[in-house]
This record gives sequence, structure tokens and C-alpha cells, in this order.
Amino acid sequence: MSRGDVDVVVVGAGFSGLAAARALQRSGLSVRVLEAADRVGGRALTVSSAAGTPVDLGGQWIGRHHVRMRELAQEFGMTLFPTYSAGRPAMRDGNGEEIPPVSAATLGAAWALARLIVMMRTGLGVSDERPVADWVARIRPPRARRLVEIALSEAASTDLDLISLRATAEMVRAAGGLAEVLGSAQESLVSCGAGGLAALIADDVGPAVALNQPVTSIVRDEEGVTVRTPCEAIRARRVIVAVAPPVARKITHQPALPDSRALVQRETFMGTVYKAVIVYDEPFWRDAGLSGEASSLDGLVPTVVDVSPSNGPGHLCALVPGSEARALDALSADARRETVLDTLSTHFGERARAPLSFHEKSWHQDEFVLGGYTARPRLGSLDAVTAAGHAPVGRVHWAGTEAAPRYNGYLEGAVRSGERAAAEVLAAL
Ligand SMILES: Cc1cc2nc3c(=O)[nH]c(=O)nc-3n(C[C@H](O)[C@H](O)[C@H](O)COP(=O)(O)OP(=O)(O)OC[C@H]3O[C@@H](n4cnc5c(N)ncnc54)[C@H](O)[C@@H]3O)c2cc1C
Repeated sequence: MSRGDVDVVVVGAGFSGLAAARALQRSGLSVRVLEAADRVGGRALTVSSAAGTPVDLGGQWIGRHHVRMRELAQEFGMTLFPTYSAGRPAMRDGNGEEIPPVSAATLGAAWALARLIVMMRTGLGVSDERPVADWVARIRPPRARRLVEIALSEAASTDLDLISLRATAEMVRAAGGLAEVLGSAQESLVSCGAGGLAALIADDVGPAVALNQPVTSIVRDEEGVTVRTPCEAIRARRVIVAVAPPVARKITHQPALPDSRALVQRETFMGTVYKAVIVYDEPFWRDAGLSGEASSLDGLVPTVVDVSPSNGPGHLCALVPGSEARALDALSADARRETVLDTLSTHFGERARAPLSFHEKSWHQDEFVLGGYTARPRLGSLDAVTAAGHAPVGRVHWAGTEAAPRYNGYLEGAVRSGERAAAEVLAAL
């Protein structure tokens, strides 16, 4: 091989690409990780608050069964701490009227979710042509319907007319069940932030990680691959593409990808999600017996949760999926901040209007990630996307959380798929 050539090029320095690169290096292979952005982490991004605490603007929770993420945190000397959940959740309608924890709305929503679990188990009424919105529209009373709509659009991070009941059932299966999706997948947080952990892994991989290197084309031949960015062309024996399928569409292939692989890239779309983390000198809402979890039936900020560090200041996280996220995009930064703080003050009082710092990100506007939490199959495409699978195309291997059979959409799926792709490469060399 000529100078600059490596055994394996990895495209993307999210958790998946970094996990793949680390596994390959540990097996003695030379690796180059090409990352389009000016940072590592992809859909995990940790910034620092005015109090100096880590603030996760992307993926952050680690679930009970997310074994590899737990191991990685431990390996890098980080601790996991439980998400705060003591106290009462707050729930209000658009007039600020409080909805009691036991009410027609909450009981109706629980009943509807129980029916959904049965439908998913039996498959009855669960088709890939039927959007979730169609089923949700029949839930009564209207407040119960809205609570279910909030829970499911939050879980899928998309508008419910874009995702089918069967794709939702598949999402729930891969995550380990509805209780996992709506609860235990959010069990813990990592002390340095998820983005902080990605940075530690990248440090471990070392100078093999190159930033500001968007891969534009991959040419494969009998002996290897040529991977091109606007700055360089690298020869390698194999390449791992650790990028979500709709994002990977921007990379051209020679020869062209087979139809099945092109279909996965074409028939999936990235979710739409806005996230804000609002930092206070202390988690003052707990003094009033509130958990920090809040649902708003109306308005642009449906869900708020407490993501405070274990002994630190108060962190509240607002997660906004789908059309509400796009409506927030249309506002100025000041108006958006005002909208979020208005919602927080409705639930937690006037003190919520004076944070130490305010952090936000619209993931669907990130040019290299295009959205979050993950890619979802378009209506009616689930079977074709599933059948296409993630088998390598010649010397091109596929990773990224979307390529994980379990925990896809999660950080855990990203790591597992990266390590699986690395094992695939090792077996092939
Ligand atoms: C707001 C939000 C909240 C979330 N919450 C959670 C959570 O609490 N828990 C959880 O487990 N998961 C959560 N997720 C999902 C989780 O963050 C993702 O599943 C995971 O980070 C995906 O990692 P990945 O490596 O597969 O992909 P990515 O992180 O998307 O990494 C792909 C990388 O490839 C780069 N790239 C793209 N195109 C190119 C190119 N042409 N050339 C080179 N590089 C390229 C991108 O810049 C990116 O860095 C959340 C996601 C979001 C957005």
C-alpha cells in the first residue's frame, strides 16, 4: 500500500464509528476515521453550562439493558447516576389548568396504551400502511388522546402521520417493550455527559480521527476501496459507513449500490427533534414536591424532564418532536427561549424564568446528522427495509444505530452495530 493508506476507513465519528475504530485498532489494524463535522459525537453532543456542568443536547440516557454503554462509561472512569424521579409529575392544559395524576385523561391514556400493547403482540390492526395518527385519533376522551400522542411522538421523534403502527411496534420490540421505551431506557445518566464519553473514546482512538472530512464518494474494486473527501483520497482494504442511511445517501458509490441498499437509504427518513436544556442554580421544583417531569397538552413544549447532575445545579430538559419542533424553528432565538421559559414557569413558578444558562439544538437542522433520534422507515416500507438488512456490499460495511437489530435508535445500538461491523471486517480480512 502507498503512504497514507490504511486497513480500514471508518466514515463518521459518532458512537458507532468510534466503537468500530477502537475495536479494529485493538485487533492491530490501522484505521482512519473521517468525520464531516468539526467535532466527534454525532447525535451525542455535550456542552458546558454556566455552572460548569455537562449539558447533553443530544442522546443522554442509558437504559437498564444498555450493557455496552454501561461498560464503556465504567471503562473510561465515569459513573452512572439515576435520573431523578421522586415527587409528582406536572400536567396542564393550554389554560394552565392542572390535570390530576388520576383523572379521565390519565386513565384513558393508560387504557389506550394497554390496548396498543395487545395490538402489537397480536398484530391485530397493526399494518404498515396505517399511520399511528389514524389509531390515536380514535382515543377518547380528547385529553387522553393528546397524552398518548405526546408519549408516542416523543418516543418516535416524528409526527405520527409519518410512521406506521407496525413500524412503531417494531421500534418497541427492538427496544425491549413499551415500558422500556417510555421508562427504563431513561433510567441513568453518565457523569461526563454522553458527548463527553464520545470525546473520551475519540481521544483513545487518537490521531486516526480526522475532523472536517466529509466523505463524498466510495469506489470499490477487487483489491480495496478508495474513499474521497474534498481534501484527500484514501486507499483502504475495507470501509465501514457509520452514518444513518438517509445521511449516507449523500455519498456516491462506484459501482452503484445494489437496489436493496439504495432502498434503505431512500425509504427511511430522519426524525425531527428540538431539545433545550435549561440550567438553574438548584433544582428548586423539588422543594414543592415536583419531580421536574411535566406535560403540556397544548403549546409548543409538550414534555419536560429533570436531567440534573446528581449533586449539582438543576437541569431541566425540554424535548420537542415533529411539527412543534418545526414551529419553534420559525421563531427567533429570543422568542423560542421565551416560549420554553413560559412553559416552565406555568409548571414550576416564576423562578423558572431566570435560568443560569439556556442551551438548545434543532437536530433536523444539523447539516451532517439531518435529524434525530434516528431514521424511521417511510409508511409501507418496513418489510422492504427490513429485508434489505445490513449485509456488506463488497468491501463496504454498514454500521450506525440504524443497523442494530436490538436497541436501534439508541446509543447502545450505535456501539453494538459499530462493534459488529468491526467483527465483520476482521472476519473478512
Ligand atoms: C435529541 C436527541 C436525543 C436522544 N436521546 C437519546 C437518549 O437519551 N438515549 C439514547 O440511547 N439515544 C438517544 N438518542 C439517539 C442517539 O443519540 C443516537 O442513536 C446515536 O448517537 C447514533 O450514533 P451513530 O454513531 O449511529 O450516528 P451519529 O451519531 O449520527 O454519527 C454519525 C456521524 O457521521 C458523521 N457524518 C455524516 N455524514 C458524513 C460523511 N459524508 N462523511 C463523514 N462523516 C459523516 C456525522 O457528522 C456524525 O458525527 C437521541 C438523539 C437525539 C438527536
